[in-house]
Amino acid sequence: MKSPVHRCRDPEHGRGEHGRGDHGRAESRQESRAGYLQAEQRIPISKDIITSSSASAMWFIRDACGIVCAVITWMLVLYAEFVVVFVMLLPSKNLTYSLINGVVFNSLAFLALASHFRAMCTDPGAVPKGNATKEYIESLQLKPGQVVYKCPKCCSIKPDRAHHCSVCKRCIRKMDHHCPWVNNCVGENNQKYFVLFTMYIALISLHSLTMVVFHFLYCFEDDWTKCSSFSPPATVILLILLCFEALLFLIFTSVMFGTQVHSICTDETGIEQLKKEERRWAKKNKWMNMRAVFGHPFSILWFSPLATPEQGKAETYQYVV
Ligand SMILES: [Zn+2]
Ligand SMILES: [Zn+2]
Repeated sequence: MKSPVHRCRDPEHGRGEHGRGDHGRAESRQESRAGYLQAEQRIPISKDIITSSSASAMWFIRDACGIVCAVITWMLVLYAEFVVVFVMLLPSKNLTYSLINGVVFNSLAFLALASHFRAMCTDPGAVPKGNATKEYIESLQLKPGQVVYKCPKCCSIKPDRAHHCSVCKRCIRKMDHHCPWVNNCVGENNQKYFVLFTMYIALISLHSLTMVVFHFLYCFEDDWTKCSSFSPPATVILLILLCFEALLFLIFTSVMFGTQVHSICTDETGIEQLKKEERRWAKKNKWMNMRAVFGHPFSILWFSPLATPEQGKAETYQYVV
């Protein structure tokens, strides 16, 4: 056989699905006995070799279920906006109360929708499709004995910690999960926007719940015909629906936010936790892990979905056997 002696592996059937467990180690030992392979080690390779070149281009997943869920998300936020402004704040006699709550609620709602838009339309870290060609692998000039992992589904060279998403039909770097509510995968490049989305939705849910409680108290004390520009039955129905919506989303997004922050701090994606994959990457402290997702140094921009975090400093590791 001609050199270079590199081999393509299917990681989903090798190490990917089952981690580098006994099976992987037994395989390694067998290969070592073959005499042409070196001890296991990792080498950093340039990120732009395997990162999508379309990172700055518009990204949108054409998935009917995801598009419907994303539209529902926007409709629910706009419904909350309608009830808060037209049922509760505008009819209120206290101008200061209406003004402060109106500014806070609308700002948070804008940040939530902006985070959603960026989470949906940012390339989560897709690996170029079909780049695992013989010519391309040869152009990488791998050293003899190096192994590159190939995804059998999208035929791409799969970097370490990347997983294939069947909805996006791509391998995604540091894929956490595919979220239909943002119609996209949550991965290395858009996790910040997803975390901000869950945080701002939890905040507007909490804020609108508080306002609903105050408005009910105000209506009970005052005359129901004067506390809203809508009829009393319509007001009650609109407020109860908002109450249910806010409560449901407050619970859902708070849990999601907590899970995401935990997985960022421990530097372990949702998929890695589920598959109980063995840690093959360097352990860093929580602060460094947070900075890797939100950008560095810490600033108010961490909370802005309009600011793109500084990416690309982290080295990409590839397994060599
Ligand atoms: Zn793939
Ligand atoms: Zn996906």
